[in-house]
Amino acid sequence: MSDPVRGSGPKIIAIANQKGGVGKTTTTINLAAALVEEGVRVLLVDLDPQGNASTGLGVDDRPLTTYDLLVDDIDLSDVIQMVDQEGLGIIPATVDLSSADMELMANEKRSFLLHDALRQTAMDQFDWDYILIDCPPSLNLLTVNAMVASHSVMIPLQSEFFALEGLSQLMLTVREVRQTANPDLRIEGVVLTMFDARNNLSQQVEEDARANLGDLVYETRIPRNVRVSEAPSFAQPVLQYDPTSKGAEAYRSLAREMLDKHFGAV
Ligand code: ADP
Ligand code: MG
Repeated sequence: MSDPVRGSGPKIIAIANQKGGVGKTTTTINLAAALVEEGVRVLLVDLDPQGNASTGLGVDDRPLTTYDLLVDDIDLSDVIQMVDQEGLGIIPATVDLSSADMELMANEKRSFLLHDALRQTAMDQFDWDYILIDCPPSLNLLTVNAMVASHSVMIPLQSEFFALEGLSQLMLTVREVRQTANPDLRIEGVVLTMFDARNNLSQQVEEDARANLGDLVYETRIPRNVRVSEAPSFAQPVLQYDPTSKGAEAYRSLAREMLDKHFGAV
């Protein structure tokens, strides 16, 4: 990858939306896999106590997790596991993480724990180009930690009724984080997920999103595709499970669109 990324350390992106089931985890796993196919090195941070990203990548053995990283101030190199795709690593999560919110409340630096953890000097040895953070379905302290730690927020938007309603709340949190902790936090983009081109509702959501958010909405739409939903039970990104599926192609297209935005067309 070109020098600008390496020179300034990894680019950190939080994948967030306080609604559950909108495609955050699916997007994190498959965007990561697609970026790695493009030759960049990606670290995935599982910040959801449900640990779906960890399970979806077949990381069943989780001796140390994001919980340890946040609560016990542990060395990064001890919590990162490499997964079954060259260039892809993960810091897994378990249900332990669900108590972190409460436990960290009294900590003065509670919003900066992930920020500081990801900037340990131990990070240098890994040479990550991107860090993707899979956020929990809530605007809690964990999601705030992700936003404080990140350069930008990517928002998966499920193509269904009410999709845009939760967005103003999310944007409010982004604004608060900008004002208090991370003034440079950007919106990376909005990704339409589980899109069905034959469905009027999907088309309506797309029209509304593009009218309201303009260029922030990616051209790439992720179609509803059964192979995408099957892949996690085979502990693989859909790009490996069914490389020629519509879902795999869409995530490749999303990765290229994002890389184009960051580096210009190559
Ligand atoms: P979140 O992390 O936002 O809660 P998930 O990524 O876990 O959402 O997705 C919710 C459910 O929808 C999962 O069962 C997932 O497999 C399924 N899903 C996500 N994206 C697609 C898609 N493009 N096509 C079909 N099913 C999908
Ligand atoms: Mg999830």
